[in-house]
Amino acid sequence: MGSGPARTGACTAPARSVDVAIVGAGYAGLAAGLTLARAGRSVAAFDAMHPGEGASSRNGGITSGSIRPSHAAITRTFDEATAYAIEAESKTAREFLYDFIRSEEIDCDFRLTGLFKGALGFGQYDTMARGAEALAKRLGIETYAVPHGEQEQYIGSGFYRGGVVRKDIGGLHPGKFHAGLLQLALAAGVAVHGHTPVTAIRREGATFRVQTPSGTVEARQVLVCTNGYTDGVAPYLRRRLVPVRSRIIVTEELSAEVMDRLMPQRMMMGEGRQLGYYYRPTPDGKRILLGGRESGHGGDATVPTQRLRRGLAELFPELEGVHLSHSWYGNVAMNRDMLPRIFEKDGIVYASGFCGSGVVWAPWVGTRAAHRLLGNGEEGRSALFSRPPAAVPLYRGNPWFMPAIIRGYALQDRFAWWRSKR
Ligand SMILES: Cc1cc2nc3c(=O)[nH]c(=O)nc-3n(C[C@H](O)[C@H](O)[C@H](O)COP(=O)(O)OP(=O)(O)OC[C@H]3O[C@@H](n4cnc5c(N)ncnc54)[C@H](O)[C@@H]3O)c2cc1C
Repeated sequence: MGSGPARTGACTAPARSVDVAIVGAGYAGLAAGLTLARAGRSVAAFDAMHPGEGASSRNGGITSGSIRPSHAAITRTFDEATAYAIEAESKTAREFLYDFIRSEEIDCDFRLTGLFKGALGFGQYDTMARGAEALAKRLGIETYAVPHGEQEQYIGSGFYRGGVVRKDIGGLHPGKFHAGLLQLALAAGVAVHGHTPVTAIRREGATFRVQTPSGTVEARQVLVCTNGYTDGVAPYLRRRLVPVRSRIIVTEELSAEVMDRLMPQRMMMGEGRQLGYYYRPTPDGKRILLGGRESGHGGDATVPTQRLRRGLAELFPELEGVHLSHSWYGNVAMNRDMLPRIFEKDGIVYASGFCGSGVVWAPWVGTRAAHRLLGNGEEGRSALFSRPPAAVPLYRGNPWFMPAIIRGYALQDRFAWWRSKR
């Protein structure tokens, strides 16, 4: 079962046959490929763009591993035991990532800084404080409430009414992490074909024929890890996964004195709004990076960049006129129940649906999916291996309804803001 020569991520003709073909070479696809190749499987991983050019090199690098729905909501969709298992798995997945970075010596500026999440009003603060206490009890995570009066130890902003701190969340350099993963995958023998879109996957008896413009490869197994970039090659997944744009802006270099004042502990930052911002010091600690959801799908960066700039100035009024050095966007992927998934359909395995928290989830889910393909019962176990997410009604790949949904969220945020100030 030789793996053939390692490829460097360029567009090259694939081998005639492999054990496993992977579509998508972001964190999920590469983590899966690494596990499979180390277990002796021959693996070809294809990416339509440069490997990592999807979300995996352009994210905020915050190791949140969030589960968006509440415990009660997951219980309603599945059952109580699954709700607990999924929550517990978010802790295991985060620890897996930290251990992986350490043991593989991946140079990606990872620091376990902690995360401060700001409350919009005192009512939200009370809810968040209760949530933190419950989380500490249920999962043993070090988390605590920060009353309004102590907030300035964490953030140089009067915007919030207190918040909570999670000590188990930190930040990494997303591009370096992807580059490290790519190096490991190549060294393990994964043939990574960049700029090579998979254009069709056809089942022929016990194998699949995976078609690309530079050749067709026969594969015993196929794993699809295309998340927010899923295209027509995976129509079943595409009907279940809505791509949502997330944009990031980065300030010019700020003085150490300003950074000390605005982000005294250099923590990762988040907030409780539906369209909340995530922000952090850049890995070198010299700039502030801030991101948020974007409703449009056009190419003009001006309007969304200005919206983020206003958000930044709302949080930190002294940054009102700051120069921005960067603005970019990428796609995250949301499914209807907002839970990451591993599922199988017609013999193809899918690993996706990270809902904007794939720095933790994608390597974990990719690795679990690989163990599943290897038939490793125990290591392939995951509460996220489940029935496919429900299809989104009237959706075939053009998320025409997103602007309306984003406007609805913005309205909810404005209402929550108004109530918090009464
Ligand atoms: C701006 C932004 C900020 C974010 N911030 C954070 C954060 O702070 N913390 C966090 O946890 N998460 C964050 N995320 C989410 C996180 O980056 C993703 O969840 C994660 O990278 C998903 O990894 P992936 O491997 O599943 O998909 P991706 O990295 O998106 O890779 C999917 C790949 O599939 C390829 N593909 C699609 N179709 C085909 C085809 N037919 N043939 C071949 N290849 C194909 C694409 O080219 C793409 O490269 C952010 C995302 C964005 C966009």
